[in-house]
Amino acid sequence: MSGAAALPDLPAWELRRLYHRRETSPGEVVRAVFERIDAQEPHLHAYLFRDREASLAEAARWDGAAGRDDAPPLAGIPVAVKDNICTRGWPTTCGSRMLAGFKPPYDATVITRLRRAGAIIVGKANLDEFAMGSSTENSAFGPTRNPWDPARVPGGTSGGPAAAVAAGEAALALGSDTGGSIRQPAAFCGVVGLKPTYGRVSRYGLVAFASSLDQIGPLARDVRDAALLLHVIAGRDPADSTSSDAEVVPYHDRLTGTIRGLRLGVVREFFAEGLDRGVGAAVRTAIETCRDLGAVCEEVSLPHASYALPAYYIVAPAEASSNLARYAGVHYGHRTAAAGDLETLYSRTRREGFGAEVKRRIMLGTYALSAGYYEAFYLRAQRVRALIRRDFEAAFARFDALLGPVTPTAAFRIGEKVDDPLQMYLSDVYTVPLNLAGIPGVSVPCGFTDGLPVGLQVIGRPFDEGTMLNVAYAFEQATPFHTMRPPPAHPAGGAAARGRSPRS
Ligand code: GLN
Repeated sequence: MSGAAALPDLPAWELRRLYHRRETSPGEVVRAVFERIDAQEPHLHAYLFRDREASLAEAARWDGAAGRDDAPPLAGIPVAVKDNICTRGWPTTCGSRMLAGFKPPYDATVITRLRRAGAIIVGKANLDEFAMGSSTENSAFGPTRNPWDPARVPGGTSGGPAAAVAAGEAALALGSDTGGSIRQPAAFCGVVGLKPTYGRVSRYGLVAFASSLDQIGPLARDVRDAALLLHVIAGRDPADSTSSDAEVVPYHDRLTGTIRGLRLGVVREFFAEGLDRGVGAAVRTAIETCRDLGAVCEEVSLPHASYALPAYYIVAPAEASSNLARYAGVHYGHRTAAAGDLETLYSRTRREGFGAEVKRRIMLGTYALSAGYYEAFYLRAQRVRALIRRDFEAAFARFDALLGPVTPTAAFRIGEKVDDPLQMYLSDVYTVPLNLAGIPGVSVPCGFTDGLPVGLQVIGRPFDEGTMLNVAYAFEQATPFHTMRPPPAHPAGGAAARGRSPRS
């Protein structure tokens, strides 16, 4: 039962049920979500763009139909979209001055699928510029704040989507994950975040950062909702040649909640030096819970895991330097006012349009790809990538899924790491190995440390999101964390957990 929980705090599957029973309507829900946005956005800044009238008009279209038996899966459900996913006629800035004012003439495939599924797009959510960072502080339009403590970061780069879902500013969100950008903010904000297998979801219309690593995926309040959204966006797309035609199953209907006898590998290297004690304790307790549920949990080693971060910071910047070459002030986006010759047009446009972290990546990547260094850096990183993939293959020969922390620490303070790129990069040590190997992972809330959420990472076999989701679901259903909501944010920060919501 929904009890007294406010509409903006309900998961999508529960809203669907209420629509079906005619207990509420998409119009009522979307209005309530915008009221929440009005109250919270001055403190959180999860969104870069909204069009209330357009969203309300969309919602009204579904008012009658959302409750019907044949209603599409997300009929009347408010969804936030990370602002590096193209939306026709709506700004898509990538959190960069370079694309300020850019309105794509087309929808990304995931957006087309969302619309077909009846979703109401509430707005475009904040991110680190071009999805480079781990805190959303690299957004050219100002940081997003963590709903659990506005003095802290929500994680990144999908910090806006994660904060929006945590704070009831959307029921669901789409993020992108190149090295952890869905899972890490999900962990920091106490929501579920899923990076699908590479190729599971079309990247058509996702502004490219590192094309061999990028994936779009869901952020949600619980595992069932993440499964529901994955089912809507997954599958082959002729517009993305790297998308796979591997079978898409109705993940949300396959959640049994039973993991008895399942073999779960606990990644030894993810519990080494650098893991915060409070985070480690919460994750270890979570593993005990899986054991209590009848799973066989044993340690497993990924011997090359410690090389993942250095390899990632060659491969990702290399691909970024190539992908970002297109922002030259010619076709779209920012163009300098002070151009003389063509060379000056390029260099001034790029100097003015890109922020410091993006410039750092372009320089790193260009260096790693340059003649004489290519073999030493890029090729070697690609070899490390193969070794990491093999580590996972060996682990999955013995285990059905793997477990570990998502991040070494809980949410850090705004400003704490922004001047120290290496510290910022270390936030991704447990997430980048999956991107390098192309395998799926999900962050599921597993406890708190000092009042801040902690995430458990469940890692799946390629294209076996189903088993991975079922492990996450079984854990979630045995614990109260997914029912907890942050208190209303105040500018001063330091908010204390409100505890269980009435709907649990
Ligand atoms: N934090 C990582 C980076 O800055 C991952 C970003 C991402 O997944 N988009 O590259």
